[in-house]
Amino acid sequence: MSTGDLDTVDAHVARVLAAMHPLAPVELPLADAHGHVLAVDVRSRLDIPVFDNSAMDGYAVQHADVAAASTDRPVALRIVAEVAAGSADDPLFGAGEAVRIMTGAPMPSSADAVVPVEHTDAGHPVVTVSTSPRPGAHVRRAGEDLRAGDAVLSAGVRLTAARVSALAAAGLAHVAVRRAPRVGVISTGSELVAPGHPLERGQIPESNSLLLAGLVREASADIVHVATVPDDEAALLAELARGLDAGAEVIVLSGGVSVGAHDVVKATLAPLGTVGFHRIAMQPGKPQAFGMLHRGDDPPTPVFGLPGNPVSTAVSFEAFVRPALMRLQGALDVQRPRIAAIAAEGWRVPSARVQFMPVVLLDADDLVDAGSRPLVRPATRGGAGSHLVGGLAAADGYAIVPADVDEVRGGDPVTVMLVAS
Ligand code: AMP
Ligand code: MG
Repeated sequence: MSTGDLDTVDAHVARVLAAMHPLAPVELPLADAHGHVLAVDVRSRLDIPVFDNSAMDGYAVQHADVAAASTDRPVALRIVAEVAAGSADDPLFGAGEAVRIMTGAPMPSSADAVVPVEHTDAGHPVVTVSTSPRPGAHVRRAGEDLRAGDAVLSAGVRLTAARVSALAAAGLAHVAVRRAPRVGVISTGSELVAPGHPLERGQIPESNSLLLAGLVREASADIVHVATVPDDEAALLAELARGLDAGAEVIVLSGGVSVGAHDVVKATLAPLGTVGFHRIAMQPGKPQAFGMLHRGDDPPTPVFGLPGNPVSTAVSFEAFVRPALMRLQGALDVQRPRIAAIAAEGWRVPSARVQFMPVVLLDADDLVDAGSRPLVRPATRGGAGSHLVGGLAAADGYAIVPADVDEVRGGDPVTVMLVAS
């Protein structure tokens, strides 16, 4: 078959992303912000550290007093006060004196160094110091990490635990983030029955809705509707309406996008004129539907129609739907992480189509020395067939073999999109 009329994967990604506009920012308390994408650049409101403070439990001293201290010639200092973390005290002291100080306590104005308790006899009320600290030793200076006004985080990063805590340290209580997109998932197919249900001739367990709902959640989006419909146009239209009623801002369909006699997604959505049916130069995943559902005065709702073979569905989600969900969240990085790996064995590759091959990473013991690139092999022994759902469960990712590569041999470098963590 001619491949000249197929769209490239990149062109379809671009088509999809062009239709996605980041959701309006919402202001959330920091305690609720974890996992969301930051909507604004954030600058610190505080110097970090906020004030000069002790990095150790020990003694705040005047450096001149202890400059000559050593094990042979220890120096005795009289302790005149104690400051703990949280104390507002600023005890003044003079030559020959010291203040007991705890980690995080503000440095007394009279002091210019801290002697850790380990370098003393810990005596009280007179402490004997047996090492000489550098001037300024063990003092964390105000602003040495960040100055008020310095950039902390940029818009488009996802808020990890460490990033949320950095925002707190920078003096914020709330932050503007993009909320999770609301997604509806509908599987189509008259052969599909609920998992575990007894199977009659011609029936199979429905699995794509679990796959898609899980992948939606892995993309930090919310599932608001999940359903399975038979290959029936009225049933699909009714279910689409229920998905929109449930608040779906994106609808993901599986199955029924090819040219079969009962391909219900194509039969139902093609006549609307707002959903395109495309053929993409990829394997698996060639037939792809994408477009907009319009209802009344509502904003249009993006709808994806993915091919129903479970591996095709999974690959199509990673290639097109996940980037779209990331763009809606304003994420700068819309792709899963990719690594450079080495094929442990060869496999068959289609000509003139990008191949997404489910692969497993071999154990660290098997790492290739040169550059320490991990070895991968196909997750299924059966080859690249898009119906080999069993291999998906084993796969750590997809080797992405470019359209102009006609062969993968053992030892060849391959790019792998990681999907399991
Ligand atoms: P389709 O894209 O509708 O032509 O389906 C392609 C193949 O994937 C057929 O063998 C279907 O039975 C299977 N399939 C479609 N949808 C699902 C689903 N939700 N769960 C499991 N298998 C499916
Ligand atoms: Mg079908």
